[in-house]
Amino acid sequence: MPNYDRQCPSCGTVALDCLEPVNTPDPICLCGAQTQRVWLTTPAVIPDSIPGGIEIAHGLCNADGTPHRYYSRSEMRDEARARGLFNRVEHIPARGSDKSPHTSRWI
Ligand SMILES: [Zn+2]
Repeated sequence: MPNYDRQCPSCGTVALDCLEPVNTPDPICLCGAQTQRVWLTTPAVIPDSIPGGIEIAHGLCNADGTPHRYYSRSEMRDEARARGLFNRVEHIPARGSDKSPHTSRWI
């Protein structure tokens, strides 16, 4: 059953996480107005794919130490999970700069 958030357009009353069938008629608010389905708790959709891929030289690199290129966030996440790593990005300053050529490539 889908999980909806509802909001009353008249008084602004909000009901979060309403479990209800898709074809449920909009319930009437205590104020008498008809509530509407809204998406308040749905996180912003972040595109999963990484255009051109991203080359990882540390942590999630290949077993022989060569950099591995990933083409989606889910691919990186699954690999990190498999190796017991969790989004750990090390910031290693390059000589003469506080920007690392590795971490500064992250968008
Ligand atoms: Zn209302």
